[in-house]
Parts: sequence; structure tokens; C-alpha cells
Amino acid sequence: MDIKENLINVLKGKEYEKTPVTAFPSVLTTELLSKAKTTFDEANHNAEKMAEVAGLLYDHTGLEGITIPLDLWFEAESFGYVVERQEGTLMPVVKEAPFDTPEDIEIPSDYINMGQFPHIEEAVKIIHEKYDDKNVPIIGEVTGAFTLLTDLVDLGKIIKMLNSDYIEIDDALEEINKKLIEEIKFFQDMDVDCIVVNDPSSTAKIVKPNLFEDLVQPYLMELKDAMNVPGVLHICGDTNSNLENMFSCEYEGLSISQEVDLNYAREVKERTGSNSVICGNIAIGETLLMKNIDEIKEESYKCLDKNVDILGPSCNIAYETPLNNIKAMVDARNEYFNKIN
Ligand SMILES: [Zn+2]
Repeated sequence: MDIKENLINVLKGKEYEKTPVTAFPSVLTTELLSKAKTTFDEANHNAEKMAEVAGLLYDHTGLEGITIPLDLWFEAESFGYVVERQEGTLMPVVKEAPFDTPEDIEIPSDYINMGQFPHIEEAVKIIHEKYDDKNVPIIGEVTGAFTLLTDLVDLGKIIKMLNSDYIEIDDALEEINKKLIEEIKFFQDMDVDCIVVNDPSSTAKIVKPNLFEDLVQPYLMELKDAMNVPGVLHICGDTNSNLENMFSCEYEGLSISQEVDLNYAREVKERTGSNSVICGNIAIGETLLMKNIDEIKEESYKCLDKNVDILGPSCNIAYETPLNNIKAMVDARNEYFNKIN
């Protein structure tokens, strides 16, 4: 079974060969940039470099998927509301949120032809040409509506509004989600194999369970409904209290951080009767960045022992993470399956 079929089968609950290892939120590291002799800025605005960086991750680590785009702020940028960036960090420098209130948000109607989008489209074509014969799955990434809202309006302001009257937030999310549905079509038109919705701001520290259910979940479900390829929902941090609602979104996969114990996630999955497979949840900082290869393998074995469905990082990998540390997850999975077979 090739790695694409293996991954898709796991997501669809069909028969598979081995636990796939992949990263659902995209991966961009300094080592990848230096191997491609490029910069963060160029890798996100030049299709060939974008494809090269994304492909190099597979070449060097064997991670079973190429996730694109590489940048987390590509929508905000493509909408024309840029944030300044600086080399040497993944985080853009947000001097000031582009809008004062959710009501003020305006998204250009043809944004799908703006900013990074044309480069992403071209990059996916290049990746198809280079990797289709190896059956490497291509994973498109879309930002969740709530997270995009917090990119466009100051998060502190949004949190205050969540505690009082959130009708204005709801209206803004509805508008943003319409655009995100176009984005899902954009990725599907490029024949991606799977789509990850990355929604870090919907973490339980910011959005309590009742708000998640009322305000976040309906839009996540609307995105899922727009998909004709398997979808994975990624929400970072401590999402324990929202887990039940996250499973109820019925994505094919749920990507969770190490702050959620895999056994607990399994328990909630069973309780909710959800079909979502559980993805993650190797710590990106304390393990992937800081530990050595043997220790990373140990952590990977622990996740495999707990029957993680898809092994991978718990979130966006830190910029400075060595590629060999990422590869250690794949090696661990290979050794684990060699032992049991
Ligand atoms: Zn995350």
C-alpha cells in the first residue's frame, strides 16, 4: 500500500497497513530554508521555492504528506492586510490589527487571486509533477474563521466581546467563513488529498465550551461540509474541555496537542460516537525541538502504544527544529512496525 492510500484509508476508517506519520499544520524550518537557499519571504512568494521547501521536508524526513502553504498568515496577507514580517522568526510582527471591530472587516472579493494564492496554486502544480509518481499525499491548509478573525481584529478586544455581546463576532465569522469555503474549493480544484483546518485561536483558554459550541463549531462544520476530501481539524494547546465539541465537528481527523492525553481523547471519542481519528501529539517544544533522537523515538513509541491513529507533531513545528528530529518520528514508526510484524 502506498503512503497516500495508507493515510487516506486511516482517515476514512478503512483498512490500512501502518500508522501514518505526517504533520497536519504545515512545517517550515530554518534548515529547510537553508537547504533550498532561500528566505522566509521568498519561500512564501515564489512558487518554485515554495514547492522546493515543502518537498524537501518529505525528501529529508519521509514525513508522509506535503502540507501547503508554508505560512500561517497567508490569508491575512492575501486579503491585503499585512502585518510586517522579519527574517528569523515565523511570527509576523503585528504592529496594529487592520480592523478596529469585527463589523469593520472587509475582505476583497477576488482575494483568491491575490497575495500568496497564485504562488500556492503554482507550487501545488510543481509538487504534483515532482511527487505524484511517489504517491505523496498533498495536504491543503485553511485557517479557521475564528483564528482569522483574531488576525484581523485585536485578540484582546475579541476576548472582551466574547464575554459580553458576541452577535457582531458571529456576523463577522459568517462572512469570513464564506470566503474560507471559496478557499476550500481553491484547494480541491488543485487536487489536494486532504485539507487541514488550522484554528489555534479556538483553543479552550480563549473559547470556553459553550462559546465553542455556539460560535465556533457551526462554522467549522460548515467548512467540513464544503469538503469532498478528508478534513482534519487542528486546534492547539489545552483543548480538553472542548474535546467533545471538537469530535462532534465530524472531521475525519482531529489533530491535538500533547496537553490532551491520547487515552482521554480516545475515551471522549467513544463517548461521542465520533468517527474522527486522533492525530498528534508529539510536543513541538520540549520534545521535537529540545530532545535527542532516541528520546524523540521513545515519545513516538509512547504515542503508538496509546494507539494514536496518525503520528505527528502536536502543532506547528518550531522554526529551529532539526530535520533529523522530525525524521526520528518516521524512523520510530518504522521500527515499531518492524518489531510487531
Ligand atoms: Zn497548533
